[in-house]
Amino acid sequence: MEDTEHQGSQFKQAYALVRRRQLMIWLGFGAIILAFILGTDRETGAAFGLPDSVAAFILLGFLVLASVLSYRNWRCPACDKPLGKGFNPTKCRYCQVELHD
Ligand SMILES: [Zn+2]
Repeated sequence: MEDTEHQGSQFKQAYALVRRRQLMIWLGFGAIILAFILGTDRETGAAFGLPDSVAAFILLGFLVLASVLSYRNWRCPACDKPLGKGFNPTKCRYCQVELHD
């Protein structure tokens, strides 16, 4: 039993890292959105002096990047299956491993 307990705490540690990275990815994306909002000229409505289509394209690029990073990161440390939409699931819905207390 000792072995599985040790493994369980390893999965919890690994999940804590996955969750921290996930937070960083979306906080980073949020910061970029905020920068675009703050960088928007009130009179012209242009972000950083860019044409709307260029600004939209850049934001879309960051959204795709954040989604890809998030998709690759947000996985169960035990079975590597996606963790789903919940922000902080207690258990993996595939292998039932406990992710945190
Ligand atoms: Zn799993």
